[in-house]
Amino acid sequence: MIGFEIIDPVFKTYVLGNAPLERLGEGFRWAEGPVWFGDMGMLLFSDLPNNRVMRWSEADGVQLFRAPSDFANGHARDREGRLITCSHHGRCISRLEHNGEVTKLVDRFEGKRLNAPNDIIVKSDGTIWFSDPLFGLQTDYEGGKQKAELPPTVFRFDPRDASLRVVADDFEGPNGLCFSPDERKLYVAETGPLFADDPTQHIRVFDVGDDGRLSGGAVFHKVTPGFADGFVADQHGNIWSSAADGVHCIGPTGDLLGKVLVPSLVSNLAFGDRFGSRLFICASHSLYSIFLNVRGATWP
Ligand code: MG
Repeated sequence: MIGFEIIDPVFKTYVLGNAPLERLGEGFRWAEGPVWFGDMGMLLFSDLPNNRVMRWSEADGVQLFRAPSDFANGHARDREGRLITCSHHGRCISRLEHNGEVTKLVDRFEGKRLNAPNDIIVKSDGTIWFSDPLFGLQTDYEGGKQKAELPPTVFRFDPRDASLRVVADDFEGPNGLCFSPDERKLYVAETGPLFADDPTQHIRVFDVGDDGRLSGGAVFHKVTPGFADGFVADQHGNIWSSAADGVHCIGPTGDLLGKVLVPSLVSNLAFGDRFGSRLFICASHSLYSIFLNVRGATWP
């Protein structure tokens, strides 16, 4: 099949030979942080170095959603459908209210400023989980050089009492994250230090306890050729991950099942469209999509 690499036969059942990769937009500096809004039939994503958030819909194509964006990166929706945003420059997590106002949810841990929140997810209990690596502080390209006050960390924020808790602190560069469909596992990308010669590029997996605490943390999958940035889970618990040569589909046991080949470095992904079986792919300067024969995970 052209455009795919089949490694495990099951991957053949996930892809469609007559549904090629589509380029939906180009001309971005670094596309990131996609999130699907089914009720509005639109995808939002960051054009991070251009300090803007873009909107794509089938009817209108790519349009500007918000600029300046305070160097927004990762996005998610909360249980009330509100947009949750990671801001590199603002070093905070914010929420776009239904009336259009922006609420800063959290920007400090124990009095110290967050680094540059990168990627973000919302659990079915409403808690907000995000990575806070140093990347966004280390160059002017993604928000402006600033001094770090905290080590790289994965946090859990509870908007009900505004509490912020460290859930993992043994990462050099925590990046993308997602839950398994039953939310019993949390996957977190380790992108490694920004300027390392051979940075770590793998995904770790944690068990999520009933109290929201994590255990485990073994390496789940090494992304080769590496770019372990963002990923999403499908309905079967497979992980569709960024990589240097496209999108890698990784089975629940950590084995590579196949690849969707993409001509530029992939950063992050989101399932969307009417049935949740269209994969939107942020890849360097471009936004792509591909229709698959598998749906994104729906959470409890
Ligand atoms: Mg990222």
